[in-house]
Amino acid sequence: MSTRNGGSASRAGATKFENYSNSTSKFSPSSSLKSKLHHSTTAASSLRRGSRDYSTISGRVRVAVRLRPRNSEEMIADADFADCVELQPELKRLKLQKNNWDSDTYEFDEVLTEYASQKRVYEVVAKPVVESVLDGYNGTVMAYGQTGTGKTYTLGRLGEEDAAGRGIMLRAMEDILEEVSPENDSVSVSYYQLYMETIQDLLNPSNDNITIVEDPKNGDVSLPGATLVQIRDHKSFMELLQLGEAHRFATNTKLNTESSRSHAILMIHVKRSVKGKDSSVSTENGNRTPISKTLKPPVIRRSKLVIVDLAGSERIDKSGSEGHTLEEAKYINLSLSALGKCINALAENSAHVPVRDSKLTRLLRDSFGGTARTSLVITIGPSPRHRGETSSTISFGQRAMKVENMVKLKEEFDYKSLSRRLEMQLDKLTAEHERQQKAFDDEIERITLDGQKHIAGVEQNYSDALEVIVSVFKFSLEKYNIVQLLNKAAEEAEIKIMALIKNQNEFVLLLERMKSAFNVDRNLQFYCVLNSLLSNLNVERVKKLSLTDKFFICRLHSTDFRNFLFSLDIPPVLPSSDEVTELMQKLKNEILLRNAAEAEILKLGKRLEDEECEKAKLEEEIKMLQSQLLQISFEADQAKHQQLREPADGDKASVVKLFEQVGLHKILSLLQSDDADVRIHAVKVVANLAAEESNQEKIVQAGGLTSLLELLRSSNDETIHRVAAGAIANLAMNETNQELIMAQGGISLLSLKATKTEDPQTLRMVAGAIANLCGNDKLQVKLRGEGGIRALVEMVRCRHPDVLAQVARGMANFAKCESRASTQGTKTGRSVLIEEGALPWIVQNANNDASPIRRHIELALCHLAQHEVNARDMIHVGALWELVRISRDCSREDIRVLAQRTLKSTSGFQAELKRLR
Ligand code: ADP
Ligand code: MG
Repeated sequence: MSTRNGGSASRAGATKFENYSNSTSKFSPSSSLKSKLHHSTTAASSLRRGSRDYSTISGRVRVAVRLRPRNSEEMIADADFADCVELQPELKRLKLQKNNWDSDTYEFDEVLTEYASQKRVYEVVAKPVVESVLDGYNGTVMAYGQTGTGKTYTLGRLGEEDAAGRGIMLRAMEDILEEVSPENDSVSVSYYQLYMETIQDLLNPSNDNITIVEDPKNGDVSLPGATLVQIRDHKSFMELLQLGEAHRFATNTKLNTESSRSHAILMIHVKRSVKGKDSSVSTENGNRTPISKTLKPPVIRRSKLVIVDLAGSERIDKSGSEGHTLEEAKYINLSLSALGKCINALAENSAHVPVRDSKLTRLLRDSFGGTARTSLVITIGPSPRHRGETSSTISFGQRAMKVENMVKLKEEFDYKSLSRRLEMQLDKLTAEHERQQKAFDDEIERITLDGQKHIAGVEQNYSDALEVIVSVFKFSLEKYNIVQLLNKAAEEAEIKIMALIKNQNEFVLLLERMKSAFNVDRNLQFYCVLNSLLSNLNVERVKKLSLTDKFFICRLHSTDFRNFLFSLDIPPVLPSSDEVTELMQKLKNEILLRNAAEAEILKLGKRLEDEECEKAKLEEEIKMLQSQLLQISFEADQAKHQQLREPADGDKASVVKLFEQVGLHKILSLLQSDDADVRIHAVKVVANLAAEESNQEKIVQAGGLTSLLELLRSSNDETIHRVAAGAIANLAMNETNQELIMAQGGISLLSLKATKTEDPQTLRMVAGAIANLCGNDKLQVKLRGEGGIRALVEMVRCRHPDVLAQVARGMANFAKCESRASTQGTKTGRSVLIEEGALPWIVQNANNDASPIRRHIELALCHLAQHEVNARDMIHVGALWELVRISRDCSREDIRVLAQRTLKSTSGFQAELKRLR
């Protein structure tokens, strides 16, 4: 026993002996068709299949051999002969009798005996292919064999009489329909035959020249001209097959041919959407799908199952005997021989596969050497008479077993569906957006309206509040006015009532009645009485009441009062709108007046400020003028004295005359007179006498000095003080008198007077007296001891130039004596003037405008400066500069020279000047 296909044993060794079923189940992991249970779990199984991850798998063309049982004719004709084939299905071997003693053995993927049921044939030949088609691979089931060996029986039997006789086409469709989902998947069928290189549509016979279209990209072939019928159930498919068979029969009759000479091709298109996690779309339940997910297109698998019932493979030489024309036989065999050549080329791994030589090879391009899973069933008869045909068929099958296909998953993205889905989603979102936009617009409108209402409400509240404020204000004002009016009215009413009461007793009763009705204040009672009197219990009269009265009545809330009014038949009267307007106008006017008054007050306030400023300025000016006035009055006094001095000569003559006639003693005795006038005149006379140097001694001797001092001490009269002081001053010009004055306590008396009086003339006299005393060398110590110097310093408080001049003269005299004493060595230490604090005033007035003051001070400074002991204090208060000025600018030469000399002789000043330089 030899193996005919041994040459390929090594290559096909791995598959040569393998069990067809095992190998297919390994090849196709799907087991969904293996049990009904699995079929029902389509979603789960789909997912399971969907998760497989292989796109291209090596797959050899599987070949099964099927032996037809002897037919009746063979039973008779071959009765004496044994079958030419012997099958060993368990070994998947076939023995072909060469002759009586020799046979060839062939191995196939499956060996199906004449007893093999249609079901079994389907399961081993076609089912694995159908499963892989459902999984998304292209598949081919093809029958090859001599005419009458059972190709059509195997593939296309309808089993109308016996369901067990159903062929592969029906069973395949049954499995497909059971597996696919009617909602998501689709199954469609085209059915055509190829006869003499012409493709005829078996579902639409008029369409008898369908062209093959090849996709230039992937080489896929399609027949767009062929009728494509959607299959929903088994029944419709059955009808379609019947229709196809009828058309095939009719066509063949018309063309005067037989089905055995044409190739019938059933093409089942299966489109399935792969349902998985990634491709699922959740828009159905209304949930929004993330855009990334939405944009992922769904995956679909487009596979096709091609079932080919080939024309009979009998030799061409036999065709003639069967009455075929040469041309026809040539065409029949063109496709078949081309197929054989292609399979040979593929089996031998030839570089060139003549696919394009025939339409059949073009149509089956994917089935052999392509991407489809292909299962070939070769059909043979048992008759030894057809041994050659059987042998040739077996050879074809053996070669076909060597053809390797690269099975490829026909999966693609469903962009159309994605586009549809996105469009739907877009429409939905657009509608949603429109709805939201509308809702948003409505909300905005609502909020706007609410806002406007709210604003209107606020404005109303505001104006109401304003009205209330105005009315309250108005009411307060009116009430105030009413009270005023009431007071007035009450007074008038009282008078009228009194008059009426006298004549009309009923008014007395009325008053009593009213008083008992309510107890309010007096004004109100009278007002009511007045009201009733004026109205004379007549409503018409009440109407004529003044506006203010009415207003008051209607504002009163006292129940008693109202009851009372009602008892009088006087209804409370409300003010009319005109009256309100009038009141409003009144109020406005009042406000205007008030504003005007406030403005006026502001203006007046401003004016007052200005006036105060002006006043301050004027006061300043007054001070200045006062000082000027002092100066002027001083000068005027001087002039007056000058003038008086001349007529005084007349007076003097009368005084001398008086002196001579009355006698000095008499005159002096009058100084103690009880009559004040007499005392005044007497002292004036004595003063006049004392002004004459010749009288002075006599006066002193007659006790005049003592009397004058006594007057100064005891009198309260300012004139007497002034005149007495003047007389003492005159007497003090004499050195002897000076000592007498001192001896009689005159210094302390004068000092005391200096502090007590503010009269400038008195002070001038006192200062003059002290100044005279200051010129006495013997009195220096006493003057200080009895407060004379202190009095001089204090008298500068009176700014009268006459006083100041006397003070300055006193200081100059004192400084001169002091200087002398210092020079003689009887005086040591600082000047008393410095000790008593006179120096600052001296320096301040050293350049006084009044020349008598200035001159005395200049002298005083020069005397003080002659002694080193005073230098330090003088420098300290700025006296040095005054001395420098005097030494340069003084108009009196003697003083100027004295200052110059003093500055030079005093080393303290020299040192300071040097230092400053
Ligand atoms: P082919 O299509 O190959 O020309 P058919 O399928 O028409 O052959 O078969 C020819 C005849 O043989 C038919 O009458 C058919 O019923 C019969 N036949 C074919 N195969 C079998 C089989 N396995 N069992 C019984 N009868 C068969
Ligand atoms: Mg047939």
